[in-house]
Amino acid sequence: MYLNSLLLIFLIAMTSSPDDPPGKGPNPATPDELRAEFSSVSCSNEDRLLSVRALFERMGADPAEITVERVKKIDNLVIRLEGTDPGLAGEKVVIGAHYDKTEKGCGAVDNWTGIVTIANIYRTLKNHPPRRSIIFVAFGEEEKGLLGSKEMVASISKEDRAGYCAMINVDSLGLASPLVAENMSSRKLVDFAQRLAKEKKLPFGRAPLEGGNSDSSSFALKNIPALTIHGLGNRWKFVLHTSEDKPERVNFEKFHEGYLLTFELLLGVDRSPCGAFR
Ligand SMILES: [Zn+2]
Repeated sequence: MYLNSLLLIFLIAMTSSPDDPPGKGPNPATPDELRAEFSSVSCSNEDRLLSVRALFERMGADPAEITVERVKKIDNLVIRLEGTDPGLAGEKVVIGAHYDKTEKGCGAVDNWTGIVTIANIYRTLKNHPPRRSIIFVAFGEEEKGLLGSKEMVASISKEDRAGYCAMINVDSLGLASPLVAENMSSRKLVDFAQRLAKEKKLPFGRAPLEGGNSDSSSFALKNIPALTIHGLGNRWKFVLHTSEDKPERVNFEKFHEGYLLTFELLLGVDRSPCGAFR
């Protein structure tokens, strides 16, 4: 009996891929899978875009699907995952994180955590695409004034804005449990995230992040509902943009909480009507 159950467990383990559990929906990443992407984090801005591309390829992206949109020497890396519902063909959701860093430190918290989050969500959803198309964006030059996201928003015509149901931004997870930065987020989307977190029993907090800004603001300013999830505690100013921003600073349990909230929010937005957050 003992041996048989072991064998059964072994057989189940052999036949199910982590990406595609039989009869189940998308399978989110584990804390260890997130941690694995920090052994190779590039601490130099020059190599950062290449690292993002390599990461998405490891997560299953076909190199031909990855585009780099260059405007005014700012590079945004973009991957589009087609939705499954032809009736929602004009609607899309953006999920983004900036890949650039400041001169100091390794940019592990700010914002390799965000990049690893969206890349892992890409890996999981690639085999279970949602109803609407998802646009994954790694933004350039956020630290110089949200430049990459501003360029992306500027390229969306006024008529097309209504087709952007929401934008979810991830910036700096892993110092504390996830929080939504109210001063850079749209109210209805924050309220929705709060209800969803309660339903899914995920840690959640909301507060303005004094002195901080991120790429969601570029979208919110143009009436595209947007929100930033971060994981910064009270002592974030001692880590961000300093030599202390290194992989050892990332708490992977807290990071995983932020990743899960982002993942659930993306799925929750996809289940909602496109205009629900305007
Ligand atoms: Zn940042």
